[in-house]
Amino acid sequence: MCGIICYCGKKQAVPILINGLKRLEYRGYDSAGFSVVSEPGKSKSNKVRKNIIVKTKGRVFQLENKMEGIDIDATYGIAHTRWATHGKPSHINAHPQTDCSGKIGVVHNGIIENYKEIKEDLIRKGHVFKSETDTEVIAHLVEEFFTLCGGNLENAVLKTVQKLSGTFGIAVIHSDVDHKILIAKRGSPIIIGVGENECLAASDSNALAPYTNKMVYLSDDEIAVLTPNDYYIKNLSNETLDKKVEILESNDYKEDKRGFEHYMLKEIFEQPESLENAMRGRLIEGEGVSKLGGLEPVIDRIKNTKQLIIVSCGTSYYSGLLGRYIFEHLTELNIEVELASEFRYRRLKLNEEIAVLALSQSGETADTLAAIKEAKRKGALILGIVNAVGTSIAQITDAGVYNHAGPEIGVASTKIYTSQLVILTLMALLIGRYQGVSFIEGSEITDALLKLPGQVREILKEAPQIEKIALQYAKYKNFLYIGRLFNYPTALEGALKLKEISYVHAEGYAAGEMKHGPISLIDKNFPTVAIAPDDLTLDKMISNMQEIKARSGKILSITNPGVKKVIDISDDIITVPRTIPILQPVLNIIPLQLFAYYIAREKGRDIDKPRNLAKSVTVE
Ligand code: GLU
Repeated sequence: MCGIICYCGKKQAVPILINGLKRLEYRGYDSAGFSVVSEPGKSKSNKVRKNIIVKTKGRVFQLENKMEGIDIDATYGIAHTRWATHGKPSHINAHPQTDCSGKIGVVHNGIIENYKEIKEDLIRKGHVFKSETDTEVIAHLVEEFFTLCGGNLENAVLKTVQKLSGTFGIAVIHSDVDHKILIAKRGSPIIIGVGENECLAASDSNALAPYTNKMVYLSDDEIAVLTPNDYYIKNLSNETLDKKVEILESNDYKEDKRGFEHYMLKEIFEQPESLENAMRGRLIEGEGVSKLGGLEPVIDRIKNTKQLIIVSCGTSYYSGLLGRYIFEHLTELNIEVELASEFRYRRLKLNEEIAVLALSQSGETADTLAAIKEAKRKGALILGIVNAVGTSIAQITDAGVYNHAGPEIGVASTKIYTSQLVILTLMALLIGRYQGVSFIEGSEITDALLKLPGQVREILKEAPQIEKIALQYAKYKNFLYIGRLFNYPTALEGALKLKEISYVHAEGYAAGEMKHGPISLIDKNFPTVAIAPDDLTLDKMISNMQEIKARSGKILSITNPGVKKVIDISDDIITVPRTIPILQPVLNIIPLQLFAYYIAREKGRDIDKPRNLAKSVTVE
């Protein structure tokens, strides 16, 4: 998920690696490090090549500080910025990871799903593990196969990759193997940069741009061997592949954002992958149930829980509101959702039969932290859904689930919202299957979950059409967003997206509440965004839309394809694919994120850093 840069040539590797890491910093990370193989010196005491690993928790400049006074003579090596998924950010968990002998260096982006099984097997064979990362198994596997393959690093990496499941972009070096870097990928990018008497590789062409414009893009399940003068690529059947060298035009790449104009847009478009990552290894399709390793230690307490209180702030509060409907639908629990900033002031009657679930992207949201500290004091079971590993909220909870969505840099949350909705569904399914949810119902949910990433891709293809509609609405100064049941929170979140990045006033309302106040605002200059999917609430939504039309209000509807009643009454329509009602909000919010984005861009707003807002709200 984070950054990789590798160099193999004749120049000093360390400055090139550090420079590459700096060009990857924008991705957000928590630790940095490199592994280089030192040249044998002239003195007797230094006749052998050594794998030198320097790493640190924190920023690249701290890595540079660590190197003051150390002179390293090395012309090949690998480097990494880590964004923790397994094991908190720490010196020991930072990459490169190494094997028992310390001769191997491995950097890895992504998640190894079967690392536990591999680790147990390797421990039985005598390997000693030092870190909590999933990555370390790669180093020990390579060590194991390196011996079995008679010191052939290429074959060792090939065999290692065959054993791994999950997503990875990896780079490997071995101090007994002169001037060779092995790279491989599945689901996480790795690009070769072909230079003069040097080969580079990186997770992102931006890191390679200062050295070469000749790029070779690795596909899934390919490995490559880099040497100073050459490179070759193989598939997992050990066949050599002929791949095209592509020339990177300087304007192909907009600095830092993989070609997207803003992080927010990049993150909106990353949602198919972030949803896949939220579900990866967490569904047992044949049993219509989910599997959440992070909750296993407290599963008996969860089974005895009578009440669940979800606490969160901002966008996470809206996913919590939807969580209430999802849990109510699938479990027997009593559900309450509360703003973290209010929860802490209440006279709460908590006990060990009550669970409090905190939702937070950053894991540092001060109000949410204060709320769960209060709940912990009173004896409740504390659970969390957090994106940033090892953070304060993750540490204080009794158990939890990580989003594994990668860093979210745009202040307005997008991919974390949808990821939270999917994880809430996984949690509710897990609990619901111990209660009333049948195998058939559970299977319907797992099927629908698995289809979501593809359905999000379909919606994203319509972005140009959504942009056209957004531009027509950019002139309005006020908006009403309405929805019912599962899409009431969608109305709130859609309105929040618009106000936070475009500074346009937008109110989210439960559609039934309209007649109790907000309808007095409606006239031809006050458009309504109606979230009106084809579900049980549709007829009631249509009545509300009629009330708006009767007052000359303009309506933009989000609905499913072919819903005639909505088409007839709306001025504009955006359609999204159908899914089961509890998951429909995951799809409905995507066009609303884009709608807000395009209006804010039209107004020239600072989309990734809207005025007065901060990404990680660490004040109460
Ligand atoms: N899963 C690995 C870890 O937690 C890699 C994380 C990354 O992509 O930076 O160390």
